[in-house]
Amino acid sequence: MSTATASSHANASKSSGQVFNSPIVQEVGLPADPDNLYFQTVATMLHAAELMNLPKHVQLILAQPKNEIMVHFPVQMDNGEWQLIKGYRVQHNNALGPFKGGLRFHHEVHLDDVKSLAFLMTMKCSLAQLPYGGGKGGIRVNPRAHSNAEMERIVRRFTTAIAHMIGPDYDIPAPDVGSTAQHMAWMADTYSFLAEVGGVQNPHAVITGKPVEYGGSKGREKATGQGLVDVLAEMLPELGLQAKGATFVTLGYGNVGSWAARLFQDMGAKQIAASDHTGFIRNDKGIDAHDLAHYVANNPKGGVAGYPKADACSKEDFYSAKVDVFIPAALEQMIKEPEAKLINAKVVVEGANAPTTPAGERLLLSRGIEVIPAILANAGGVTVSYFEWVQNKTFSSWEAEEVDRKLNIAMVSAAKRTRQAKQKYKCDLRTAAYIAALDNIAKVYAIRGIFP
Ligand code: NAD
Repeated sequence: MSTATASSHANASKSSGQVFNSPIVQEVGLPADPDNLYFQTVATMLHAAELMNLPKHVQLILAQPKNEIMVHFPVQMDNGEWQLIKGYRVQHNNALGPFKGGLRFHHEVHLDDVKSLAFLMTMKCSLAQLPYGGGKGGIRVNPRAHSNAEMERIVRRFTTAIAHMIGPDYDIPAPDVGSTAQHMAWMADTYSFLAEVGGVQNPHAVITGKPVEYGGSKGREKATGQGLVDVLAEMLPELGLQAKGATFVTLGYGNVGSWAARLFQDMGAKQIAASDHTGFIRNDKGIDAHDLAHYVANNPKGGVAGYPKADACSKEDFYSAKVDVFIPAALEQMIKEPEAKLINAKVVVEGANAPTTPAGERLLLSRGIEVIPAILANAGGVTVSYFEWVQNKTFSSWEAEEVDRKLNIAMVSAAKRTRQAKQKYKCDLRTAAYIAALDNIAKVYAIRGIFP
């Protein structure tokens, strides 16, 4: 490696706020760009690894995914024309169990995003102590720009393209941004058809997040929001807050954001602003989270813009609203320094994956704003996906109350493990959550070894 490249690696690590100058960065050839999402994700891991003295070979293994799969497949559109569509599946690590993670359907999805999200799934499953590794995938497509029939063909062709690389005991996809329970049903059906020849047991267990009528779990749709409010209920008291009477804003009013808002409101909190890809709205007297979710679901534009019981507001007015809790639940890297400067909350609880950049987080922490990291706060989705998989494999069906109770136990224990690591290593919550997750993975590598 040239001196210039080596020093830019070192600068990159410094400027992304990490207290490491790890040879791993150079050894695995990570992009020396502090704004690169994958670099940021791995840098956070290496920072935690240094504090806890994680064996170097475990750091090395985790610094790159095990498999990066990219597929291209032709699909005929309703007008008779053909389009070549790009899809991804990244299988990051399977030391703890089968690869597990969602599928993003978005016209701007890139390999680096998928790699980062797959990495976060490894951390998240380990922190929640689920018997899963981490994976993620996506299709480079805008689902809003296609008819239902086109989406069905795209989803079924994608499933066919990756079918030999997934499986109910090997890699189990689920929904993420832009993908729905209906998409998961088409995937499960296509996979089951293809797997018939190979005699795969419980083929529909290859996908979670399916409709309840077709092997989905009760409680899966709201699970990520439910897990987020379970974590809030556990952690707010130590921040001198309680749900009843707390105020909050929601950035991103899709599955995670709208469910988190509805469930937090049901605990006595009040939403005063919300936003999504269509705009920002605010009403300091309160925006009913259920009513807004109903409006979004029935609005042909599918967004919060135009909601009649709140005013449209600027981005600045949205971010700077004085509240107790800020819930980012949209996409990655939405809280950079400019947004962190505006935020006027006591705690940011990450519903989205990686919504806060390292520079944004440093600024928030320096301003006394606590950040509850995504690998803890949004682990409810994968936890109930795990429950769905167990129900599929045991031919059983659990009641909603049972799902909620088991989810609460899992979320509270993950929060406790994070708190213990924070106390032991005297670090911020994100580093603590990574340490708890890495500790679990390191133990498994120590016990099982690496073959050959
Ligand atoms: P979704 O597609 O249901 O919702 C995404 C929301 O983000 C939509 O409201 C969309 O309008 C909004 N959005 C998109 N671009 C935006 C922009 N530029 N500004 C403001 N808002 C914007 O997706 P989701 O499933 O709710 O996922 C949201 C986040 O939560 C993602 O980071 C995802 O990876 C993460 N997550 C989802 C789950 C799950 O179970 N669905 C689980 C864990 C983590």
